[in-house]
Amino acid sequence: MRLCSIAVLLALTLPTAAQPNGGAPVVYKVSFPAPEHHVAAVDVTFPDVPAGTLQARMSRSSPGRYAVHEFAKNVFDVHAFDGKGKELPLARPNPYQWDVTGHDGIVRITYKIFGRLVDGTYLAIDTTHAHMNMPATLMWARRMDDRPVRITFTPPAGSNWRPATQLFPTTDAWTFTAPNLQYLFDSPTELSAHQVREFTVANSDGKRFTIRAAVHTASSERDIDEYAAGVEKIVREAVTVFGEYPAFDGGTYTFLADYLPGNAGDGMEHRNSTVVSGRGNVRNGLGTASHEFFHAWNVERIRPQGLEPFNYEEANLTDSLWVAEGFTQYYGSLIMGRSGLADLKRTVGGMGNLADSVINGAGRQFRSPVEMSHMAPFTDAARAVDPTNFSITFISYYTYGGAVALALDLSLRDKTDGKVTLDDFMRAMWKVHGKPGGPAPGLVAKPYALSDIRDRLAEVSGDRAFADQFYTRYMIGREVVDYARLMQRAGIVLRKRNAGMAWAGELRGAPDAVNRIGNLQAPGAPAYAAGLEQDDILADVNGKPVTSIQQFNETVAASKPGDRMAVLVKRGSATVNATITLQEDPELEAVLLEDTGGTPTPAQKSFRDRWLGSQQRR
Ligand SMILES: [Zn+2]
Repeated sequence: MRLCSIAVLLALTLPTAAQPNGGAPVVYKVSFPAPEHHVAAVDVTFPDVPAGTLQARMSRSSPGRYAVHEFAKNVFDVHAFDGKGKELPLARPNPYQWDVTGHDGIVRITYKIFGRLVDGTYLAIDTTHAHMNMPATLMWARRMDDRPVRITFTPPAGSNWRPATQLFPTTDAWTFTAPNLQYLFDSPTELSAHQVREFTVANSDGKRFTIRAAVHTASSERDIDEYAAGVEKIVREAVTVFGEYPAFDGGTYTFLADYLPGNAGDGMEHRNSTVVSGRGNVRNGLGTASHEFFHAWNVERIRPQGLEPFNYEEANLTDSLWVAEGFTQYYGSLIMGRSGLADLKRTVGGMGNLADSVINGAGRQFRSPVEMSHMAPFTDAARAVDPTNFSITFISYYTYGGAVALALDLSLRDKTDGKVTLDDFMRAMWKVHGKPGGPAPGLVAKPYALSDIRDRLAEVSGDRAFADQFYTRYMIGREVVDYARLMQRAGIVLRKRNAGMAWAGELRGAPDAVNRIGNLQAPGAPAYAAGLEQDDILADVNGKPVTSIQQFNETVAASKPGDRMAVLVKRGSATVNATITLQEDPELEAVLLEDTGGTPTPAQKSFRDRWLGSQQRR
């Protein structure tokens, strides 16, 4: 009989609600016998294991960070046992997997794992906390991912830690449940002597949610209070975009904030929580909090195809990170501005930077927003030994998508005199793809395809031809809108930042040689057209020796657009003569019309206020 006594006992002691899928739960015990050595001890029992080989794995990927990570690398001291405690042999068919055979329907695996990077993707253990991203911490087994999970944490003896997590609580403060592997792995957990601030929000139907900030930091109580007050402003402004809060599982959403020296600056979205980390004062983390909270709708519930369900065995590819991350980037800043946490100049300046990045970014010559999304596994925390040319062929989907969001918001407002906005588009995406939810917490039933973006846009704009054209030209295509004309409607001027200044391209010195070009040259820039490239040594310009790239750049700055510069280049043993024809510096900036000496018209003021002002009073 496969179902042995331990499994029966576990099944009997669990509330039936924790077993929506029928199987007995997978049981994890995580302890920290030597936190000063950055090690956790994990003990996992898989009950009701089908006959044959149990394939236990460490993940190769983690939601929200798109490179392959190989979490197996930090696992050591692995042992497997059957239900009677007999040790079983382990085979390693590949670097990420431990095969267990000869079991009696129960497999218990114990292992240790090392981790010391505090961010949103990895595992960090020290004497002040255990900061756990679950795919980086927990081994799982193939074909058991729909099993419910029960997990108990044991803090180090004598510690004053307490848990903060979106996992479902039980009557034991240190034991939690998850309905399936997807939810478990979406549930980062912080065990520390953190401080908690909380407030309550409600939907119009009266449904209430508790928003918590669990803050592990050396910042002062006052800083934590200010952070929590900022978080509350963000939360109350963000909801106006969608009209309602998601039905947070368990009725809570938690900001797991970790701001201590040595931390990485990061933010990572989850369904009912976010990890936000950094090394400075927690008050500086509000911009990240604004971005991550928007993800509670956009990506956690309005989920693109390709990420649903998340595949923990390889890198995950989606067409739509320019929406999932880019639109979130745009709204993260917009909500900071609308809620009064960022001033108008900063918000408008950020919009200008988005526009500049795509208008002038060399990467747009090669890849559309969709194609930039496909680069995520190679660019998001990815490590390469051989050089890449991403600096000239890639524009982050955060930036490119943010610029598309700006273009679409302004185009809709321009076309409808403010009656239809990007908020309406986000709300349509929410109603069709996010709000319906999924069969269990952690699952999304209606992830969207690219064509859904086009269709929702046709619906909210009431103009299928506009939607088709915008989609074809700016989403799957590489064209850009007339940002200057659109921004002018809000009394914002998009202008050359260094008007009249000569420009040769972006040339930076190599660290080891002051007159050697240290960066790849971008197609379209004068230096590229002249045949200059990274590693070229600029020996002299216009007959005078070049002592540094900085000096070369000063010579350019003292020239005029259209001037020609004769450059002697040393490339290995060869010497090359090149002529650079200088252009005007194309970099753009967005400034308020009134800061250029102009006066916005009432129509411009109204357009600007309806776009960038708080939506809460409307
Ligand atoms: Zn994000």
